[in-house]
Amino acid sequence: MLSVQGLCKRFGGVTAANEVSLQVAPGEILAVIGPNGAGKSTLLNLLSGLLRPDEGRIEFLGQEITHAPPEVRTWKGLGRAFQIVQPFPEMSVWENLLVGALYGKPSTPRKVAERVVAEVIELTGLAPKAQTPAGELTLLEDKRLELARALCTQPRLLLLDEVMAGLRPSEALEAVALVRRIRDSGVTVLFIEHLMPVVRALADRVVVMDYGRVIAEGPYDAVAANPKVREAYLGR
Ligand code: ADP
Ligand code: MG
Repeated sequence: MLSVQGLCKRFGGVTAANEVSLQVAPGEILAVIGPNGAGKSTLLNLLSGLLRPDEGRIEFLGQEITHAPPEVRTWKGLGRAFQIVQPFPEMSVWENLLVGALYGKPSTPRKVAERVVAEVIELTGLAPKAQTPAGELTLLEDKRLELARALCTQPRLLLLDEVMAGLRPSEALEAVALVRRIRDSGVTVLFIEHLMPVVRALADRVVVMDYGRVIAEGPYDAVAANPKVREAYLGR
C-alpha cells in the first residue's frame, strides 16, 4: 500500500530522516517507535506532505507521491490525524465532521458527505454527542473527534502521530479498541506512539527509529528484546 525508499530530510546540521525505507501492507497496523528526537514526526510529515524530502521516494497505491501537496495525498486516500486537536469549538460534532467530509475530498455531494459522517459517527462512538458543540467534549471525546475527522476524508491509509497523548490508561485502552475497529472497517493504519502498552496491544508490526534511521523492525516482542533497541532507549 505504501512504499518508502531512501527518504532523507535534513534540518541544518540535523539529519532527521536518514535513508528511511519501509513498506506498509494493506490491512496492517504498523507502529513507528523510537526515543524523543528519533525522527518519527518528521517521517510522518514527509508521508503526509507537510515536509518535502531532500532525497528518496514515496509510493502510495502504486503511484509516486514524493512531491505531491498534502491535499492531493488526502484525495488519493492518505489520511492523517493530529495530536493537537483543533475543531471549530462552537460547531457541533456533526457539523465539524460534515465540514471534514465535504472538503476532505473535492466536490463531494452533500448527500454522500452526510452518509460518510453518519457511518463515521457510529464507528467512532460519537453518535450520542452528535449535537454537542466540539468545544464541550472531554479529552477522550476530542481524540475520537480527531480520528473521526480524519476518517471523513475516506482514507485507505491513516497516519496517526501520538493521538493517545494525555489519555489515562483506561481511556487509552478504549482508544486502542477504536483504532482496531477502524482497521477492521478496512483502513490500514500507521501510528506513532510512545506508550508501550498501546504499541504492544495494537501493532501487528513495529518499526524502530533512532537518529533518523530505522534500526529494527518486526513483531513487538522481537524488537523489545533487540539489544540495539534497548540501547537506543537507555542512551537518551
Ligand atoms: P520525534 O518525533 O521522533 O521525537 P522529530 O521528527 O520531531 O522526532 O525530530 C527529529 C529531529 O529533527 C530532532 O533532532 C528535531 O530537533 C529535528 N527537527 C524536527 N523538525 C525540525 C524543524 N522544523 N527544524 C529544525 N529541526 C527539526
Ligand atoms: Mg514526534
